[in-house]
Amino acid sequence: MDQQELRALEHRCIQEEAPECTAACPIHVDGRAFVGHVARGEWPEAWKVLLKTMPFPGILGRICDAPCRRRCKRREAGDPIQIGDLERACVSTPPPASRVLPLPRKGKTVALVGSGLSGLTAAWDLARKGYSIRIFEPGPRLGGPLRAIPVHRLPETALEKELERLAALDVDVHLNVDVAPAQFFEQCIAKHDAVFLSLEAAPSSNWNLERDDAGKIIVDPMAQSTRRPGVYAGGRPDTAGPSPVWQAAEGRWAATSIDRHLQKVSLTAGREKDGPYTTRLFTSLAGVLPLPRMEAADLQAGYSAVEAVAEARRCLQCECLECVKICAYLERFGAYPRKYAREIYNNESIVMGPRQANKLVNSCSLCGLCERVCPEDFAVQDLCLQARRSMVRRGKMPPSAHEFALQDMRFSLSERFRLTRHAPKLSQSTHVFFPGCQLCASNPAQVKRVYAHLIDALPSGVGMMLSCCGAPAYWAGREDEFRSVCDEFLADWKALGQPELVVACSTCFRMFAEHLPQVPTTSIWQLMEETHFPPAAAATAGRVLAIHDPCTTRPYPVIQEAIRRIVKRLGVSAEELTLSRDKTECCGFGGLMQNVNPDLSREVAARRARISPLDYLTYCAMCRDSLAAVGKRALHLLDIAFPDAVGSDPAARPRPGWSERQENRARLRASLVKEYWGERVQAMQEHERITLIIAPEVAELLDQRRILVEDVQRVIYEAEKSGSVVLHPQTGRLKACHRPYRATIWVEYSPAPAGYVVHTAYSHRIEVMGGPRT
Ligand code: SF4
Ligand code: SF4
Ligand code: SF4
Repeated sequence: MDQQELRALEHRCIQEEAPECTAACPIHVDGRAFVGHVARGEWPEAWKVLLKTMPFPGILGRICDAPCRRRCKRREAGDPIQIGDLERACVSTPPPASRVLPLPRKGKTVALVGSGLSGLTAAWDLARKGYSIRIFEPGPRLGGPLRAIPVHRLPETALEKELERLAALDVDVHLNVDVAPAQFFEQCIAKHDAVFLSLEAAPSSNWNLERDDAGKIIVDPMAQSTRRPGVYAGGRPDTAGPSPVWQAAEGRWAATSIDRHLQKVSLTAGREKDGPYTTRLFTSLAGVLPLPRMEAADLQAGYSAVEAVAEARRCLQCECLECVKICAYLERFGAYPRKYAREIYNNESIVMGPRQANKLVNSCSLCGLCERVCPEDFAVQDLCLQARRSMVRRGKMPPSAHEFALQDMRFSLSERFRLTRHAPKLSQSTHVFFPGCQLCASNPAQVKRVYAHLIDALPSGVGMMLSCCGAPAYWAGREDEFRSVCDEFLADWKALGQPELVVACSTCFRMFAEHLPQVPTTSIWQLMEETHFPPAAAATAGRVLAIHDPCTTRPYPVIQEAIRRIVKRLGVSAEELTLSRDKTECCGFGGLMQNVNPDLSREVAARRARISPLDYLTYCAMCRDSLAAVGKRALHLLDIAFPDAVGSDPAARPRPGWSERQENRARLRASLVKEYWGERVQAMQEHERITLIIAPEVAELLDQRRILVEDVQRVIYEAEKSGSVVLHPQTGRLKACHRPYRATIWVEYSPAPAGYVVHTAYSHRIEVMGGPRT
């Protein structure tokens, strides 16, 4: 990813866009933060938010006409938040201690004619920027029209207090000045570096300025510049109207222009967001109940503190986070895609040192739900997959990240599992059944039942292919390895005469559909519909189950619909989960999340499991097993379509551990070749003859640590053969290690008459020098 791509991605996530209240406010008070503090009764913090952007909170906070209300999101569910009234309540509390730190003096003087709100704001902003200010006020006191505001609204003490803050800066005030004559105006221009005219507060008819047909001074609405160089104006009733905040805004824009003018830079560049603008922020109102505004008991006094807090609590605290709300992974890392894009970019750019975002990159399940719910279609899965590929290409992917899953895939591609055959006694196939490695790992008996059915249903010839579709390599970002899995598959498929592929796994379906479009692929579910199988099964009739769609079926409504029709035909009432079909959630297995971040994977499955108390019905072996692993009763549709003859409770079947999953595959292959093709089963390897005695808690530990029984057998076999073992003098236990692949596995064991008792095992990436190697 280069800088430009990063920017494009960052732009796509709108979470950091301003809420409507801020975007609508002419001076961009952070309404969301302000109202949030008020809602928590944090008055000093609320004050500080105002002080950040508001020129004179003690004045404007009392009289602001709050144009933000017209766009407040709350108005779509009740009344808009009364931010102006909340500001008034806030500035009626004691202000926090604050210090104004003006910039170093600039040696330039700006004249301000009239001291209405626009003039005072311009004076405040320019003085803080280091300009010397000279105010010429026609009246006897500063403030101009502000003095006419009723005192219950703007007490004199509040006004004076704010003017004192201004006086503390480099401001020279001249009162009772006759500013009307043209001569005064010309001298003003001649003696100062720039001039600002506070039009709401000073008579201007004699001033020599270009005017429109109605006789009004022509003022540029963005720069607030008149047609005379160095002369700026604002606050005029016909542009700012009676709106105090607009008057203040015009003063502010003019101050910015004067500063730019004196620094000889563009008056207009980069000022698109001066004044109200359109925000792209999306805020969902789903589940938001309409609430009316809080009415103040004393209208003249405004909100009491209690009333203000109640009103502020109606604020929606507008934000997007649609993806974070539905994704435990995005939530776990504590931010949102815009920030993640930057973190991932930084991670990629590091030449040396720790890659802090590795876990972030590798934990995403690549399920694509974020893209589906995002108003801007931000696809986190693409970002993470690209980052994984780039890390692999540059040799920056830590081997530990996906090693176990890749080893497991390589097992499925090895002769221990891989199989390609025409149907027994046939030399050609119109179809070939590809059950996928995980269904075979989870429930090999079911695979045999389905194949037996297919042989009956498709007499034209249905072959069998045991292998892996390569999803682990794809998810791990290993493009070369994935490509070679595809090539090997294609060679096998062509050798069978290019039959139609029948898959039982939605991940396989998606891998073939997206990466090998030349292979005609159908799901077992579509085929079952076509062949009217199974017939309505009485055993399940009347049962109510919640359907969990695998996330890999997200783009395939045709499969999701077929499932629902089959379920109906079986007499099962299906309940839809809140997130289903194209918005279904991952079970925590996808994208190798389970390998990289097992805790998160369990949380994802548990979250999914909690949605409904009903037993779940799914049609992916990994979904079923992941749900079962967190204690959820879950069925595979094949459990209903091809029920177990013994009539067990398949929803209670525990998830087979990693070792069992490999053993199941090897045994399935062996039994298929023997039963269907009458071939001899491969002899056991030497190490497989070792008998292990493993207590259930140790078996659980091995599974969590992704250490296979076969690996333990290898370690003990090699240790016994070479004598390379360590004896613990106190316990009498033996300890040995072996490195069957890129992990070194240590096993603590004791010989026993019936085999070897395994006490514990662990693995690490460090190679023990001088130790045994493969
Ligand atoms: S849904 Fe997520 S990615 Fe999309 S704009 Fe919202 S926060 Fe950003
Ligand atoms: S609901 Fe709150 S955050 Fe949203 S626009 Fe209104 S005041 Fe601002
Ligand atoms: S886990 Fe799924 S929803 Fe979450 S970020 Fe990854 S692809 Fe998106």
